[in-house]
Amino acid sequence: MRIEDKDRVLVFDQGIRFDVMNKYYTSFITPRSIAELRDLGVLPRSEWYENTNSIYISHMHLDHLGALSNIPSEIKTFLPSLSIYNYMEEKWSTSPTWLSLIPRKYYVEIEELKPFKTDKNNVMALPVSHSAFPAYSFLYFGRDETLLYTGDFRVEGFLTEEEFYDLNQGESMFGFIEGKQDLRVDTLIIEGTNIGSSRLPISPEQAINIIRKVAKSHNQVIATLHGLDLEYAYALMKLSEELKFGFYVASSQIANLLQKIPKLPFKPKIVESLAEQLVPFEKIALEEIEEKSLILVSYREAIDLVKELASAGKLSNDSVFIMSEPEPQVEEASEYEVIANWFSRMGVEFYTIRASGHYYPYQLKTILKTIKPKKVQVIHTEKPELFNILIGEK
Ligand SMILES: [Zn+2]
Repeated sequence: MRIEDKDRVLVFDQGIRFDVMNKYYTSFITPRSIAELRDLGVLPRSEWYENTNSIYISHMHLDHLGALSNIPSEIKTFLPSLSIYNYMEEKWSTSPTWLSLIPRKYYVEIEELKPFKTDKNNVMALPVSHSAFPAYSFLYFGRDETLLYTGDFRVEGFLTEEEFYDLNQGESMFGFIEGKQDLRVDTLIIEGTNIGSSRLPISPEQAINIIRKVAKSHNQVIATLHGLDLEYAYALMKLSEELKFGFYVASSQIANLLQKIPKLPFKPKIVESLAEQLVPFEKIALEEIEEKSLILVSYREAIDLVKELASAGKLSNDSVFIMSEPEPQVEEASEYEVIANWFSRMGVEFYTIRASGHYYPYQLKTILKTIKPKKVQVIHTEKPELFNILIGEK
């Protein structure tokens, strides 16, 4: 989103268009350069950054973060977390894939967002619940109007209100807006990812209830998650404690992410061979995994984990695999059908689950009642017309 307000120009998010990307690339036809991606319309064009004062990234899914290497000049860029960004950037820079094109150019200056503070551009970041942590929406107090850009968000998350507060050092966007009686939002720019989707609206709480039910009849639970999905990791950690399962992490990125939780209910154990990482948690060998265990792993590392467990004689024949589906599937090209094939082959029972990181259409009325915007603009959707009908504009 490019916001022009007289002499001030702001850019909110600058993501990768995975729908366009998937039209031109496969696992063996890969991007050659940032310029090529820009030409195809996978990344924003240079002129869209013209005279920009600052760029604000709402969260670090690649369809919002994009490639900082695409930023054509010295524009200050605000990110949700510098430590998480730097960790990811280091991984990309040594990647044998096109991801090595993503790291920033030397002239791009990055700074961490400070929520609840109005900055020099009159922008305030407000935390929201999403499947990437941290995630923000942005309030912009413009010259003639106030604008709210939601980024990606869901209404119900995996955390209690208190846990959310601890993790984000403050309340959510909804709590903040409800508490500010004098705040008027003129224009709401809202995502519409789930608009037109018939997928059953499973809340995070319901997802955990289902996983609890499945886990109770098994000794070993292996769960995949996206490397930024801290809320889900936290909820699984609490579940493992409740069920008295040993809690293990077999992924560097997830181990790195868990450090962000200020009051961990208890400490995970890190599987050394799969997560060599300097984190302040106990490291163990694969052989030390207890019989009753819940193991977190990323999609990419899941198959390696299962193969290693099998060869170490640690893959329980009572193991269940729970794959949280990425969404939308195109956002970050994951080959999760292939992963599923491996589990079939290894004889592991498996399920896929998706508690969406986005609000569901039935929650739209409540959202609009809380924010009370004068104008609404939907983005990030394949069904903008339907959205407008749902909110009674057409
Ligand atoms: Zn997202």
